[in-house]
Amino acid sequence: MHRIALPLPNDGLRAVNVYAVQAEDGLVLIDGGWALAESEQRLVSSLAELGFGLGDITTFLVTHLHRDHYTQAVAVRRKVGSHVSLGIGEQANLQVAMRLSRQPLRPDRLSHLLRTGATELLARLQGGGIGLPGPARDWELPDSWLHDGGRVQVGNRCLRVIATPGHTQGHVVFHDADAGLLFAGDHVLPQITPSVGLEAAPAPFPLRDYLDSLRLMFELPDAVLLPAHGPVTTSVHRRVTELLTHHENRLAASAAVVATGAATAYQVALALPWTRHEKAFADLDQDNQLLAVAETAAHLDVLVLQRRLGSSTDPDGIEYYRTA
Ligand SMILES: [Zn+2]
Repeated sequence: MHRIALPLPNDGLRAVNVYAVQAEDGLVLIDGGWALAESEQRLVSSLAELGFGLGDITTFLVTHLHRDHYTQAVAVRRKVGSHVSLGIGEQANLQVAMRLSRQPLRPDRLSHLLRTGATELLARLQGGGIGLPGPARDWELPDSWLHDGGRVQVGNRCLRVIATPGHTQGHVVFHDADAGLLFAGDHVLPQITPSVGLEAAPAPFPLRDYLDSLRLMFELPDAVLLPAHGPVTTSVHRRVTELLTHHENRLAASAAVVATGAATAYQVALALPWTRHEKAFADLDQDNQLLAVAETAAHLDVLVLQRRLGSSTDPDGIEYYRTA
């Protein structure tokens, strides 16, 4: 099995890992990379070092719909006819991506974020944003949908599909119990916390779903973490514990900011520190400001579910939070 790091166009994440697993009749790739010329060149040269070519890729098992994971699987399928599989929970996101990417103007693309009160930021972001629909040719249906609990035989490995909604609604991870490996996609990342709350078809409580999917990892024996971004590490459980602690701290910090009088998700996001480096909101680029606002709304909504905050919506659809 081989880890191949493929390039990305934006600077936030330097690479996406694709894992190539040898089967009897060719290669199975877990995740596909971002459909870019330089990414395909890197994939071709990496496969050549292993004695393979693009045409040897029989199957892509894609962890989720984001373009750095899905779009190159579709592009390679177009060339060599590989089979592409994706979690069934991505159906709604894919339908919206396919529909919106075919419209020349996309005024409703970010409308679900209006309730955060980030009116001025959204006005600046006309038609952009990571994780959101881009060129129409990037989005096509997979050949098959993966279901929670399903098993995929890859050579002598048996991979179990585990649905892990949160980062996206249809995110799945692949567990190789015999070898003690977890192909984690973006669900468990060793060095960063995956975004929640920014999807083409937003779910009502993405952070609640994500936290539940993190706790689900404790129901598996601990495994080696094979993430889609960053290095391989030895313990899924250790990282899940860190991620749960991180979100508990963010929930507490968000509640504390509301207690000082910030009322909308945008106002709370402005007051919180961001990234490992504790940056000010204003020092983030626009894509990351958008992620930060969506992330903040997701935390505030969990605080409402936990009855630590109350909320109400004004006639313009903007949601205001208050200490319960
Ligand atoms: Zn990713």
